[in-house]
Amino acid sequence: MWITQNLLYVFMMIIVHQIYYHVLPTQIKHNMYLPTVSFFIIYWATAILHMVMDRTPQITLWSRYKVIQQEQISDIEMLPTVILNQIQLVACIVLYIHFIGRGYDTSDVSFIRIIFELFLYYVTYDIVFYYGHRFLHWNGIYERFHKKHHLTKGSIGISGMYMHPFDFFLESVFPFLVGFSIWNGHMLSNLLFACVAAINSPQSHGGYTFPFLPRPDNHYNHHKYFNKNYALGIMDSLHETVLSQPIQTRKHCNE
Ligand SMILES: [Zn+2]
Ligand SMILES: [Zn+2]
Repeated sequence: MWITQNLLYVFMMIIVHQIYYHVLPTQIKHNMYLPTVSFFIIYWATAILHMVMDRTPQITLWSRYKVIQQEQISDIEMLPTVILNQIQLVACIVLYIHFIGRGYDTSDVSFIRIIFELFLYYVTYDIVFYYGHRFLHWNGIYERFHKKHHLTKGSIGISGMYMHPFDFFLESVFPFLVGFSIWNGHMLSNLLFACVAAINSPQSHGGYTFPFLPRPDNHYNHHKYFNKNYALGIMDSLHETVLSQPIQTRKHCNE
């Protein structure tokens, strides 16, 4: 089940791994901005694809997979906030590389080490994201910093970055930097983690249940019920905040 739903990620990681070793010149492989640039290329390719699919519901090739359509705010209205948050992301990465710079090892590396580092990044991201997200749901904090993101319902790809800048830092920037600085991983681990995150953000907020990609159900249920599915899974299981409930079919979802 897990492997079926993540098949596209596994396939993409194999491709990126091959490109990294057999195509990229050393100069680019050693450039510390490679994961960030790759993130933006893949993010916008995915986000623009979502925008095109949302505007062509007559094409059943993809519209049959769209199970949520409930937004009050359009993707165009979200765009300025998304771009501002991405400028913040670039600024944080530049500062991180300049002042800390841990997590960009470019020595020869084994496949096992990459898998292990990706696991460490995943667990670290889950822990930091979980507690940051719960903090954002505290009463006064929620109104000020997190309500903006919850005005969206999880049915437009770029809504994953439609949030207050502090919310964006706490949920989408800080958990990455904590993982990179603690584990001091390999450039390839950072690159692969960034590529998966670039697809995951639109995919978890886009309302499409494509085969071979994780379903958006869990994060949709967070937007719907507020106190479930705060993070990626492990921490929600430990704190008993998991809600594994499939999204209702399209005719029921506009409630
Ligand atoms: Zn969300
Ligand atoms: Zn929330």
